[in-house]
Amino acid sequence: MLTYLHQRQLFNGTVLIGEKGKVLYRKAFGIANPQTLEPLTTNSAFNLASVSKQFYTMMIMILKEQGKLNYDDRVQKYLPSFLYPTITVRHLMNQTSGLPEYFDIAAGDMNLFDTLNNQSMLALLAAKKPALIFQPGEQWQYCNTNYTILASVLERVSATTADKFFQQHIASPLKLRNTYVYQIQLKSYPPSRVFGLQFENQKPILNDLLRFDGIVGDGNVYSSVEDLYKWDQALYTEKLVEKSTFQEAITPGKLNNGEATKYGFGWFINERGKIVSHTGGWVGFGSIIIRYIDKNQTIIVLDNSSNFRAQGLVKNIWEEKPITLPTTHLITNVKVIDGTGLPAFAGGVRIVNDRIIDIGELTAFKNESVTDGKGFVLAPGFIDSHSHHDWGLFENPSAIAATNQGVTTIVVGQDGGSVPIDTIRARMKLNPMSVNLATYTGQAWLREQVMKDDLKRKATAVEIDSMKVILDRELDKGSLGLGTGLEYEAAFYSNRDEVVELAKVAAAKGGRYISHIRSEDMNLEESIAEIIEIGRAAKIAVQISHIKIAMRSKWGSSASILRQLQQARLEGVNITADVYPYAMWSSTPRVLFPKKDFENLASAEFATRELFDPASSVVTRYPPNKTYEGKTVTEIGKLNNETSEQALLRIIRETSDTGSSIVATSMSEVDISNFIDWEHSNICSDGSISGHPRGHGAFTRVLGKYVREQNLMPLETAVYKMTGLTAEHVGIKNRGLIARGYYADLVLFDPATVVDNATITNPTALSTGVEYVWVNGKLVYEQQVARPNYSGRFIAR
Ligand SMILES: [Zn+2]
Repeated sequence: MLTYLHQRQLFNGTVLIGEKGKVLYRKAFGIANPQTLEPLTTNSAFNLASVSKQFYTMMIMILKEQGKLNYDDRVQKYLPSFLYPTITVRHLMNQTSGLPEYFDIAAGDMNLFDTLNNQSMLALLAAKKPALIFQPGEQWQYCNTNYTILASVLERVSATTADKFFQQHIASPLKLRNTYVYQIQLKSYPPSRVFGLQFENQKPILNDLLRFDGIVGDGNVYSSVEDLYKWDQALYTEKLVEKSTFQEAITPGKLNNGEATKYGFGWFINERGKIVSHTGGWVGFGSIIIRYIDKNQTIIVLDNSSNFRAQGLVKNIWEEKPITLPTTHLITNVKVIDGTGLPAFAGGVRIVNDRIIDIGELTAFKNESVTDGKGFVLAPGFIDSHSHHDWGLFENPSAIAATNQGVTTIVVGQDGGSVPIDTIRARMKLNPMSVNLATYTGQAWLREQVMKDDLKRKATAVEIDSMKVILDRELDKGSLGLGTGLEYEAAFYSNRDEVVELAKVAAAKGGRYISHIRSEDMNLEESIAEIIEIGRAAKIAVQISHIKIAMRSKWGSSASILRQLQQARLEGVNITADVYPYAMWSSTPRVLFPKKDFENLASAEFATRELFDPASSVVTRYPPNKTYEGKTVTEIGKLNNETSEQALLRIIRETSDTGSSIVATSMSEVDISNFIDWEHSNICSDGSISGHPRGHGAFTRVLGKYVREQNLMPLETAVYKMTGLTAEHVGIKNRGLIARGYYADLVLFDPATVVDNATITNPTALSTGVEYVWVNGKLVYEQQVARPNYSGRFIAR
């Protein structure tokens, strides 16, 4: 297993397994230093990261036996500047102090070149006075701050440095030749020192240390597997402290209410009296020590390749539990367009399980599965920021409408509608599907929860408060933010203040605001002004959904609208937009009556003159009379000896209970191109699995028509607008780029042939030129065929 991992660059490190003082297995795999390529030995000293903690508690135990301190002494007794009077030394060792994590305290207060050390950390704590997360002893919470303060107590009480104390009282009596406390001031490194590394382009490069590394206590002890085994065996003796003293270190700590925790002094208690352990992780390094104390068996695994895979596998093999080896897959011979907008480069991409692990000039490992990319473009899977593909998705889990155009993540909860996240998660668990899904929480849905059917009015303050509670809960569950559809009747009668109140809740949780604005035609400019104001008032990033100019006399004004958006950005409002590449929209025909006067012939005449072309606009859903489906409004008029305007009124009247859908031609190509080209717009489909052709072809249409045929922008820019930029606009992390550690959502397409084929008469025709689509490392689409790997996941904000 270790050889397998090592050959695939998933393990570089040393392993020792011992029983009753005898070494059963010891082996070193790989290199200690990526620059010198010096090989590892079992005496090589790794940064133990948090496995270091057990050494600091041992030093405190030694001080206690020397009569120099007691565990229940207040920390303030030794560190007068420490502001928390009720925290004791024991709280620190047991991880029950309630202090916040120092990484978080320091974040934002440091320059790139600052090195934090124990003194500056204490000073920072005194200056920022962060509140305790809970009162000391009330809860258990793992926190590195505890141990950095413990080290400061140690240095104060012993009147020496942690390293000197360590050498004198632990390393020297146990003859640990390659174990020491690392200090950033060290002029030279001990020859046994191991450097953290990672593999890039299949070659090792340095990945070692960080600016926090002036800190000791929580980590920064270096040691080898051989020394750690000596240490482990010494813990069965009284070489360092009396047995009863050490026994307390591997006994669960107690909370104020008497409840036992699973942690002693620097040890996790897996099974009391039987198994204790600790893991460690830091830049480049991953480590574990497991002691089966009832059998005197020990496993030690140290890794310096930024991998954490071997530790758990060794443990499971030793405990005779099932294991699953990670699988790697190489995609070679591709032009990588990584989603940042930077130029394409030739190379390959390696996937391990669901993640991208390497990019560049890669050659296959022995027995590795390989996809030949045939020189095509490999891009991050497209993220559809405005999707209705969730309608019917659970019955059609292959999601071919999305995957055939290279989409791997759909963002739903659009236009004010949404489904609770618990429901989505439960459905996805029951019916896994081939695309990832993320969701906004819809304002109309919130209104319906609180106001029921009574939606044609403003919400009261009490009702808004109830909506806030629900929204807050959904945000905690991973909602991307608030979505509205202010043009639709469930939200049209709410005002800006109502939206702002809710948007503030989303802003407080780092969420975003996305909106089908109040008018895309008559009151377009005012509606854009409204979303800008919402962004300003709620201090939230706002995105205009499917930006368009759906009114003939306003065609050509996209440049001035973009100036309006740019001006808002200059004033500090983070406003963006998404856009789909069609001159026709699809919705309920009711949106053709901006004044909601659905029986007014004059308004119908305004609609045919300004808002859509009845002769080319097709009714796609008409429950009372299925024969109308597929016919234009003008054709339906002729069937009834009516004008187009009368036909429109008829359609509204006859479907007021059942609803209906229309694909309406309404926009100008010049405006569409301008919006697609705007540097802050990303591509969306607004599509679903049927109806408008955008549901099957929006992304491939941009690549084929706007990029290849019209040369509107470089391919790299278009991909950026489908991936990296979109992830930013909706707040999705670790997707949208081809980057190490990112999820392996990928699409391989032929830039010379890629194009949409879906049309209004054949809206489900699959795209050409999309070769393969992977979602979370699994192939879900191959040359117009869905593959039954339902590897999509719910993506939380
Ligand atoms: Zn919409």
